[in-house]
Amino acid sequence: MKTTLQPDENGFYGEFGGAFVPEMLYPNVLELQQNYLQIIETEDFQKEFKLLLKDYVGRPTPLYFSKNLSEQFQAQIYLKREDLNHTGAHKINNAIGQVLLAKRLNKKRIIAETGAGQHGVATATACALLGLDCTIYMGEIDIERQKPNVERMRLLGAKIQPATSGSKTLKDATNEAIRAWINDPVGTHYIIGSVVGPHPYPDLVAQFQSVISQEIKIQLKEKTGDENPDYVIACLGGGSNAIGAFYHFIDNGKTQLIAVEAGGLGVYSGKTAATIALGKKGIIHGSKTYLIQTDDGQIVEPHSISAGLDYPGIGPIHSYLHDTKKAEVVSITDEEAMQAAYDLSRREGIIPAIESAHALAYLHKMKLKTTDVVVVNLSGRGDKDLATLQNYRTDEK
Ligand SMILES: *Cc1c(COP(=O)(O)O)cnc(C)c1O
Repeated sequence: MKTTLQPDENGFYGEFGGAFVPEMLYPNVLELQQNYLQIIETEDFQKEFKLLLKDYVGRPTPLYFSKNLSEQFQAQIYLKREDLNHTGAHKINNAIGQVLLAKRLNKKRIIAETGAGQHGVATATACALLGLDCTIYMGEIDIERQKPNVERMRLLGAKIQPATSGSKTLKDATNEAIRAWINDPVGTHYIIGSVVGPHPYPDLVAQFQSVISQEIKIQLKEKTGDENPDYVIACLGGGSNAIGAFYHFIDNGKTQLIAVEAGGLGVYSGKTAATIALGKKGIIHGSKTYLIQTDDGQIVEPHSISAGLDYPGIGPIHSYLHDTKKAEVVSITDEEAMQAAYDLSRREGIIPAIESAHALAYLHKMKLKTTDVVVVNLSGRGDKDLATLQNYRTDEK
């Protein structure tokens, strides 16, 4: 995995990133900073990781030329099928990478927090596979809202630890998970599910997800003779599927990288997760980045119809890519994303995750030439969103 996008020694991408953590957490983060590269760059690690991605996750995922979308948009549209991964999305790439790393650091136990449950399920899956003890922190309200995923995690052998303080949602689960990590720095590894958090997490997660663009290059070369597309489009929550899809195309002088944020009910509606559109620089979850905050620095509760994009910050790499104009950040509303999800289901027989539908919806806003090669990263499948897809349709009537 050769990288074109390495942070500096303190974990900064330009002015973004770093490791702004309380002193009590410093030893945990330092251990990772000092060891992660040495471990993940070994032949032994790479061999085990790649074999599991191939035979367990089902990689490489297909790069599918969509004839129907290509006719509709008068361009060459390809879908990168991350929805076909084991567990139905890209998150498993990172979960397996981090559990393998934890084992090599002699950790016995994995902790993670989850909101909608997708990261929790991926983590519980990797722990079951690799034989580590797994505790997932989850707000009491989220446990109630996300029953199928809670049931999945339990079946996979994970312990669910309810967070009962504060708003009883993701924020509170994060606090409790971090407290548990502080209490056991030697035996426990904390898995973050996106390219957020203190250094080295953004780089670690980006490297594990970079397999997506590595595969696209090979697949596109085979299909078109040129490994570089004109556009890559991906949805942006914390930013892990997007950086995975962008990674090997940054600075190639051809490919335009487009990251699609969740506009919610509209960027200026007060109910949005469009972090870059509205964001101001600040510190969230241990790194400097753009985030949605009030003038006096309070984090604003985000809104998106897709749970995976409902995050008030954004990975520091994406703040850097935005400020240096290496990627373009746009937004798509709930309504536009839902329409794109219904459309793809009907036209292609693929029910996408509502997160991924944000990336698809952006095709409507582009001025494309018939020769343009466009890769849309289909980050996940829509089975988890069935109730939302159903109810929204009904609401519309
Ligand atoms: C979690 C999730 C996302 C958002 O996370 P990123 O880190 O921004 O990729 C997007 N799509 C799907 C299907 C997800 O499960």
